[in-house]
Amino acid sequence: MERIAPPVHRPVRLQRPTSAKGLQQAPVQAPAPICAIAKRDPSRSIGAANDGTLRDGCRLPMAGAGYVGVGERVWGADATVAWLQWAAAQVALQFPGSAPLVIGALSAENGGFIAPHKSHQSGRDADIGYFHTARSQARRFELTTADNLDAEKTWAFLEALLYTGDVTFIFMDYEIQASMYEALIDNGWTEATLAPLFQYPAGPSIGRGIIRHAKGHADHFHVRLRCVDADKPDCID
Ligand SMILES: [Zn+2]
Repeated sequence: MERIAPPVHRPVRLQRPTSAKGLQQAPVQAPAPICAIAKRDPSRSIGAANDGTLRDGCRLPMAGAGYVGVGERVWGADATVAWLQWAAAQVALQFPGSAPLVIGALSAENGGFIAPHKSHQSGRDADIGYFHTARSQARRFELTTADNLDAEKTWAFLEALLYTGDVTFIFMDYEIQASMYEALIDNGWTEATLAPLFQYPAGPSIGRGIIRHAKGHADHFHVRLRCVDADKPDCID
């Protein structure tokens, strides 16, 4: 995987269109995560996302403000869990009564390889369901197209996450990128603002933007968070 410097850094603010709903500014540092199992020591994300391990990870509770978790591989690095919980809560604040965000695989308790994933090894990756326009209480990922994508709500989550400055990649089907991008342009976002974020419209094999096409991401998207300073240099972005 090509390594790029993520283009969004604190405290740079995205230029939001005036029509955009209110979004709380991200805390400068990840808040404390809410873990399903109490633990004493901070997490350690070791190695790379596709060749790494996790120590003292935080087990994501199966339900929280604005989200539900599915599956057993729900262990993450503290900052990763914290930011997912923070961003999900932001969506819940903006869209009261919304169906919850569905958070699927993060990592195994001690990290390492989990089929069928190449990455998800060091607690900094998460698979997440798109929001759908049909009011759904689904507890699983569902095939997403331009017809059922709730671009506004999905973007609300992604935008909150991007504000943290700690996202290195988001893998998203190129067709869904197109739907998201066009909806944002319609809502007043500018091409210049979106260019560092979206690979679209450059093409699905072009190495540009945080949001990249990867096969198999039409029913969920994948987010990767950067290494926290405390885990460096053992943690590799
Ligand atoms: Zn994934």
